[in-house]
Amino acid sequence: MYDVLIVGAGTAGMTAAIYVQRAGKKALVIDEKGYGGQIVFTAEVENYPGFSNISGAELTEQIHRQAKELGADFKVEKVTGVERKGTNFIVTTGAGEYEVRSVIIATGAKSRELDIPGEEKFKGSGVSFCATCDGNFFKGRDIAIIGGGNTAVEDAEVMSAIAKKVYLVHRRDEFRGDKLAVDRLASKENVEFVLSSRPLAVTGGFAVEGLKLEDVKSGEERTLNVNGVFVAVGQVPDNSAFADLVKLDSSGYVKAGEDCRTSTDGIFVAGDCRTKKVRQLTTAAADGSVSAAAAVEYINRTE
Ligand code: NAP
Repeated sequence: MYDVLIVGAGTAGMTAAIYVQRAGKKALVIDEKGYGGQIVFTAEVENYPGFSNISGAELTEQIHRQAKELGADFKVEKVTGVERKGTNFIVTTGAGEYEVRSVIIATGAKSRELDIPGEEKFKGSGVSFCATCDGNFFKGRDIAIIGGGNTAVEDAEVMSAIAKKVYLVHRRDEFRGDKLAVDRLASKENVEFVLSSRPLAVTGGFAVEGLKLEDVKSGEERTLNVNGVFVAVGQVPDNSAFADLVKLDSSGYVKAGEDCRTSTDGIFVAGDCRTKKVRQLTTAAADGSVSAAAAVEYINRTE
């Protein structure tokens, strides 16, 4: 029997696995998409201590290798539910069931959608949620990126080297992303900031032809002529599989404080999927270690 089943193989989950193994317990990490989480598609990480510049893919490889070398197991399955059985838990996946001593939820979050006309129609053929993945399809073309956080700012920088023209569309007149990165972007000749603008629709026939916007101050509408739209408006969690066992907040994040303890003893939570203010690689790694220590304490206490 595994001591700790960790749901999600992003930075939080893999860090938890490292700490569980180092505490002499056995960890199983389950992720429906493999391993790495959101950071895999980040071209350059510049704020993880010890690395002034490293690609997300390289960083993730190193964390994964470290967890594997310590003896953690990884499986690619989808977790569909968790039930209590005495002081143990039964975790159900698409492939079967696991009885484990403790569970760490580290499911991260996925891209938020805009829910505007045209978004669904052109998804995968002109509307993208990942500039690093799909950017090259827009070589020499005009594109718009929607969002004002670090993802949108970074995507705009990536796309400025690929596309002919990049519009960065944000609903307020102030960015949420890091000032240094915004300043660097402002100096790019082919990048134009379109501020205080709300996206209304992605337009086009067989292919994307435009992005319809509303100026939130004047109410005026206009359409940017673009061939592609990148949506980078933040993330939403997906914790529905755990909703019967742990308390979620109104946005679907697992309720927990800095101690990573959920409303159910024996189930812990780490990383972007929990209620918190700062969602960063560093805080995901911190949660991984805190949740692992709490899980080990639970196992020892209930043995
Ligand atoms: P975020 O920081 O939550 O920003 C989302 C942006 O989308 C906000 O500017 C928000 O506008 C806008 N937005 C939300 N809903 C919208 C809608 N319906 N229509 C139009 N705009 C909408 O998300 P993120 O950029 O994906 O970043 C998530 C977390 O990861 C953040 O903590 C970020 O710092 C971190 N991150 C870090 C790095 C890095 O450090 N290298 C890279 C990427 C991401 P408002 O500003 O008006 O709310």
